[in-house]
Amino acid sequence: MSAFEFPTESETDVVVIGAGPNGLITAAYLTAAGLDVTVVERRYEIGGGLATEEILFPHHYVNTHASYHYMVDYLPPVADFDMLGNGLRFHKPFGQTGGVFGDDYVYLCRTLEDTRDSLARFGLKEADEFGNLAYRFHKIVEDILAPATYLPPDGPVDLTGALNRTEVGRDMLEVSEMSALELIGGYDLRDSIQATLLYMACQWGLSPGESGMGFLVPLMVDRGMQKAFVYGGSHRLASGLARVILRQGGLIIDNAEVVEILTDGGRASGVRLEDGQTITARKAVVSSLDPQSTFLRLLPAEVVPEDLRRSAEGWAWDKWSLLSVFFALSDKPRWRPNANNGMIGMPDPFATILGFEGRDDVASFLDAIERGEIPKAAGHFTVESAFDPHLSQLEGQHVAFFQMPAPYTYDWDEKGPGVVRDIVTLLDANYEGFSDLILQTVVETPRTIEQRLPNMVRGSIKHGDYNPLQMGNMRPNPECSSSRTPVSGLYLCGASMFPGGMVIGGPGYVAAQIVCEDTRTKFPFEYPGHVQRYLETYFPEGKD
Ligand SMILES: Cc1cc2nc3c(=O)[nH]c(=O)nc-3n(C[C@H](O)[C@H](O)[C@H](O)COP(=O)(O)OP(=O)(O)OC[C@H]3O[C@@H](n4cnc5c(N)ncnc54)[C@H](O)[C@@H]3O)c2cc1C
Repeated sequence: MSAFEFPTESETDVVVIGAGPNGLITAAYLTAAGLDVTVVERRYEIGGGLATEEILFPHHYVNTHASYHYMVDYLPPVADFDMLGNGLRFHKPFGQTGGVFGDDYVYLCRTLEDTRDSLARFGLKEADEFGNLAYRFHKIVEDILAPATYLPPDGPVDLTGALNRTEVGRDMLEVSEMSALELIGGYDLRDSIQATLLYMACQWGLSPGESGMGFLVPLMVDRGMQKAFVYGGSHRLASGLARVILRQGGLIIDNAEVVEILTDGGRASGVRLEDGQTITARKAVVSSLDPQSTFLRLLPAEVVPEDLRRSAEGWAWDKWSLLSVFFALSDKPRWRPNANNGMIGMPDPFATILGFEGRDDVASFLDAIERGEIPKAAGHFTVESAFDPHLSQLEGQHVAFFQMPAPYTYDWDEKGPGVVRDIVTLLDANYEGFSDLILQTVVETPRTIEQRLPNMVRGSIKHGDYNPLQMGNMRPNPECSSSRTPVSGLYLCGASMFPGGMVIGGPGYVAAQIVCEDTRTKFPFEYPGHVQRYLETYFPEGKD
């Protein structure tokens, strides 16, 4: 429905601000719980980071934002709403992550057995050591990190007490203290494997040397070997969730930018849209936006407590953003025979890391990006249509993207074209005649990310930095990390809330639980089995 068709004043139980993955997940659960829900989205398109667009010339589609879906094995709405039975399909490519490092290459697969077979060419000791790492990381994810993603956060004391109950919990505590470099460097693995693992752990915004963030390493590495794509494009996850919401009686309004969160006696009571329409929320307003938008821009200043204002002002945006170069290609790129013969003839890796020499080069590259420099073209490359033919509908043609960590503050107008040229040179060095295949190129810089999604301030794909002061129950601050805020009736549900960004669905799912609890509405589903096991193991007396 367009905003023009909507009455000037309307009323609902819950208004959700933003139709990204988290806003949609919150709305799907709240409509299932029987609440009257209206989702308002600033763009014409719903989906936020779940975008599939025809930005290359007709019949070529790309996932402009999220392409790699890390948490499909755990994401509760997939099972709760039978989304697979209703047409949504996830595929996990056999070859998950490849990497070319000088004369060496690494090829990691969906199953550990295949990865070990691939690494065995370096010797059985190497393959075994990798197996130890993969098994350890998977245990931490399966037993702790995945289930904890879908529950409200715990304070450090409670969490430490709970994790101390098991060996894997104690291991997780130990890992958490470490930096990515320390943790990965502790394994007796050759440099190319360490480089691959370090890039996988840090590519979305973790500083390699930052301690206290080590828990992200098992998460990103384990899930990085289980990445899926949504068949037909990432947007299908958004449209699938939208169908759930509409079927359950909810409403989604597009082209509807919220310019103010209305309050009544200090309580959030609705929203005002850019065209002057107001929507009254009888029970809750749930914002998927970043803390500065929600607390400093949309709320009247007089209802925002001083502490909350200061915490929002101090919010740190992502350390770096992404540069994506999308290509329409006349044919599928093929490895240069001299580039790296080992991967020729193997199924394409879903993501191929290119442009690095080794582990220390990955670390120093990311350090330079963090300082605002771009030392060279290096990042990951995916030929999306090789996996999902829907994305290129012209016989034989393909779509691909190269993506790299990139600073927001950079002279993109002046220096951006040079970076893109360097990327094409890198691809030419690895794929035979790559530049001859290019039919069209579209570039998305950190600045254009922000233009498209203004809540991704400074191109912050996670709505805010990952650092020890902005993670766990500190995200975005201890008062708001479980979705409730000090402004009664106002809740958070987006990537700036615990547990964080990416298409993991945790914030949206946790927000729905809390809104149900506060409105005395029964949450409509049981926890998934992995969450129940986690609660029984770590919180047998119940969680606060
Ligand atoms: C280039 C890029 C690549 C990425 N790749 C991946 C990947 O491969 N895998 C992965 O898991 N994640 C990836 N991400 C990150 C992921 O997309 C985000 O972390 C995720 O979308 C956050 O979800 P969200 O629902 O919290 O917020 P968003 O997706 O940002 O959604 C917020 C919504 O709110 C809307 N909005 C903003 N202001 C208003 C307003 N005032 N009124 C109404 N609506 C408003 C926005 O238009 C948007 O639709 C990528 C992001 C980018 C930019």
